[in-house]
Amino acid sequence: MRQVHHFIAGEHYEVSGARKHDIWNPSTGEVQAQVTLGDAALLEKAVAAAKKVQPEWAVTNPQRRARVMFAFKQLLEENMQELAELLASEHGKVVDDAKGDVQRGLEVIEFACGIPHVQKGEHTLGAGTGIDVYSMRQPLGIGAGITPFNFPAMIPMWMFGMAIAAGNAFILKPSERDPSVPLRLAELFMEAGAPAGLLQVVHGDKEMVDAILDHKDIAGVSFVGSSDIAHYVYQRGAKAGKRVQAMGGAKNHGIVMPDADLDMAVNDLMGAAYGSAGERCMALPVVVPVGEDTAERLKEKLIPAIEGLRVGVSNDPDAHYGPVVTPEHKARIEQWIDTAEKEGSEVVIDGRGFSLQGHEDGFFVGPTLLDHVTPGMESYREEIFGPVLQIVRANDFDEAVRLPSEHQYGNGVCIFTRNGHAAREFAAKVEVGMVGINVPIPVPVSYHSFGGWKRSGFGDADQYGMEGLRFWTKIKKVTQRWPDGGGDGSNAFLIPTL
Ligand code: NAD
Repeated sequence: MRQVHHFIAGEHYEVSGARKHDIWNPSTGEVQAQVTLGDAALLEKAVAAAKKVQPEWAVTNPQRRARVMFAFKQLLEENMQELAELLASEHGKVVDDAKGDVQRGLEVIEFACGIPHVQKGEHTLGAGTGIDVYSMRQPLGIGAGITPFNFPAMIPMWMFGMAIAAGNAFILKPSERDPSVPLRLAELFMEAGAPAGLLQVVHGDKEMVDAILDHKDIAGVSFVGSSDIAHYVYQRGAKAGKRVQAMGGAKNHGIVMPDADLDMAVNDLMGAAYGSAGERCMALPVVVPVGEDTAERLKEKLIPAIEGLRVGVSNDPDAHYGPVVTPEHKARIEQWIDTAEKEGSEVVIDGRGFSLQGHEDGFFVGPTLLDHVTPGMESYREEIFGPVLQIVRANDFDEAVRLPSEHQYGNGVCIFTRNGHAAREFAAKVEVGMVGINVPIPVPVSYHSFGGWKRSGFGDADQYGMEGLRFWTKIKKVTQRWPDGGGDGSNAFLIPTL
């Protein structure tokens, strides 16, 4: 069986006798490979290799650092199909969607190509008489990233793209469920001209995460995953004196105003609620029609659209979405539907027990629609992370603003309306980090930044863009004054002082 190893100091690193984790092919339900799980001793080797290379990389001029990013971007483009197929085979998302995963990461690399410009400091000439003040952004040293299964290409690149361009070495601990693409990214990064040890991959579970959080030579940790673990990572990392950003789970709401273009909203919801089997932190699993009439009209249009969705294996070019990641996750999603039903939701379309002909062992869940969901229900409060759309009916605009604002998560939200004033009020008032106005998945482009609020994000800095640069650098402020000429004054020319 294929074995997935660590990538230390530019080489595949095999550890004999280590614990292993199975990697499924979610479309077939078979175990297709195994990944070896690392421990503190392995991390020590990665840190040692990072320490060797980082000081020189930090003083490598920014244009040279950018050249590696350019070359890496080109390799990503050349290897797009291979990366997408590998990703789809371990994650389960369809190949086109997997290309999007790589593409969104590539866009962060594109932004990182501009590092000579964006890492420039600031300068004030004449802050006092003869005094100048300037600031510079220096790398933290060694950074680490701990990433979730659902975007195995994009999320690692959110992190290491900015961290490495800014002069850090980076140790990536990807999800043990689909670790092959992150490993391939590290290989390609070296092929792009990065020195060995600059980007390393250590696989593992909690044991490795704890080793990272406690390691005294790792200065910054970026985490993306579920909220309880994000909170834990934030606390433990901060206690060890590190800079930590930790993005958590989500339950994003799509508000549908009475004046919305319902066909557009329904079409958008098909992709946003069911795309990638709902395994996206920016999915829209809750739709909030405002007013009973809107709710009825929406539901009437949703039902045939959902019934028209095609569930297929990840390399089916016509499938809207593929299987979910593991058998445990399939079972958990089905349990959530059970819970929702017991709590009094109406199961309008039931995806439980779905079986795909010819792929009966795959981890498929059919598209599900639940109506009459209310804020008191556990199935509403918690993240389901599956192809399940919940309708929560709101009486008016104020209630529609309150629902996402009072939810424990605050990652993304969207309002569908033709009314500019309502949209403007909504964007200003809602307590959520990323807002879409007639845009169902408002993931900001790479030159803005990404981050949610409340239990969707612990720590102060967003991912990528200028926020990413700020997170991965520390700012040094220099106040300087130069004496006027030689010590005895003989060299004092007639130079007026600013
Ligand atoms: P997860 O929390 O199970 O795993 C994330 C990472 O934490 C993995 O690398 C995993 O190995 C590690 N980990 C798992 N258990 C741990 C433990 N007990 N202690 C320390 N580390 C541990 O998340 P997942 O299931 O891989 O990903 C899905 C979750 O990620 C969802 O909640 C989703 O909303 C969230 N997510 C959030 C964002 C965002 O930007 N807010 C983006 C993508 C995914």
